[in-house]
Amino acid sequence: MGKERKAHGAHCLVLSFPAQGHINPLLQFSKRLEHKGVKVTFVTTRFITNSINKESSSSTINIEAISDGFDQGGMAAAESHEAYLERFWQVGPETLAQLLDKLDNSGNPVDCVVYDSFMPWALDIAKKFGLIGAVFLSQSNAVNNIYYHVHQGKLKLPLSNTQLLLPGLPPLAPHDMPTFLYAFGTNPAFRNVLVDQFSNIKRADWVLCNTFYDLEPEVTDWLMKILPAVRTIGPTIPSMFLDKQLEDDKCYGFSIFKTEKEACIKWLDDKPNGSVVYVSFGSVAVLDSEQMEEIAFGLRNSGSYFIWVVRASEEEKLPKDFLNASNEKGLVVTWSPQLQVLAHEAVGCFMTHCGWNSTIEALSLGVPAIAVPHMSDQSTNAKFIMDVWEMGIIASVDEKGIVRQQAIENCIRELLESDRGKEIKRNANKWKTLTLDALDEGGSSNKILKSLSPSWFILFL
Ligand code: UDP
Repeated sequence: MGKERKAHGAHCLVLSFPAQGHINPLLQFSKRLEHKGVKVTFVTTRFITNSINKESSSSTINIEAISDGFDQGGMAAAESHEAYLERFWQVGPETLAQLLDKLDNSGNPVDCVVYDSFMPWALDIAKKFGLIGAVFLSQSNAVNNIYYHVHQGKLKLPLSNTQLLLPGLPPLAPHDMPTFLYAFGTNPAFRNVLVDQFSNIKRADWVLCNTFYDLEPEVTDWLMKILPAVRTIGPTIPSMFLDKQLEDDKCYGFSIFKTEKEACIKWLDDKPNGSVVYVSFGSVAVLDSEQMEEIAFGLRNSGSYFIWVVRASEEEKLPKDFLNASNEKGLVVTWSPQLQVLAHEAVGCFMTHCGWNSTIEALSLGVPAIAVPHMSDQSTNAKFIMDVWEMGIIASVDEKGIVRQQAIENCIRELLESDRGKEIKRNANKWKTLTLDALDEGGSSNKILKSLSPSWFILFL
């Protein structure tokens, strides 16, 4: 098998879970591999590849699909998360094996499968085919550490209401921990997915983490002791964005949503530097109407310019007349070219739900954050944003768990107008420089990636 493979350059199949927050980093990772001379086939589910907004991508990467059992409607077509995952876990492995066969038979054999950690079964398939299997973890190493402890039975669920001390991490209060570990029973299917990421991880040839060493040194050192195959290769953000060469859309990802690029950039172009609040809660968060109203009035009362991403499915929760009344100061879009927006000089701060991608995008582009975590690992990311990296502030919540308009207004004023805001902006810029260093030719993430790419080839010689 090895001899046959010698004739072609390394070919890597990169498999993503069908969610925007997974597709983006894995696609950017694919592009970086391609840049290093590795041939890449990017794979996600049929429903997603059919609905991908092709105009948002001029990538040369080959795209293939597997089935999740819901080719027509994806996750939304399933009765429940449980039903979706059960069916996907039945059909996915089978169709991945068929795809590997198909590529083999068409003269494009795969050498290595880089799979999303949400789908650990992909490692079994890779090994069945005698391939290298590398897992890609798309959350922070702090969060990896927490889920690893749960998987090992060292953190018992549901978590108790006390502060937690874990190796390589600052003390974590209950509200700093990923929500699924507390809300026992609210989404057991996804909690299992999160914990199962570590079920067979010791058999993976590499454990690729979408973070960089200087961002999480202590916890990375600890993880590497436990899992020697850990390699920090992030952030998987096109370095072109960091250099502000924004015109090249090739460096952008695929979007499941229709991106209002022209509208956003044109609107930003005539706003003063650092004056705009960019607001986005990512691709899945569903806010309740009360929270939407508080955000709307907080934004309006702050008197600042703002761009707010409100997905089409959330639009009806906007207060009546909000759009008309905010015409002068605000722009509401259903999806933005987030990296381009964050890299724009007019943007002064980012009100974010603290999904890991949004977190590292803000940090890499030196944009201070107002953290409004919603669920999952977002509260842990928020804790790091404020207390460890000191590049943002967490908006306070009331006893109902709602961030009130006054809190929103205060956070905006603090970041855009106060001395503390200036200090936070300096820190954010420091992280931007450190990100560029990590991605630079001699930088930590780039060196690791370079050392991995040829070995995918060498291993078969
Ligand atoms: N994003 C975007 N346009 C938007 C909102 C989000 O391009 O209007 C991108 C963002 O840049 C990030 C991803 O969608 O790469 C969201 O991932 P994240 O982990 O932040 O949140 P999730 O959607 O997984 O909750």
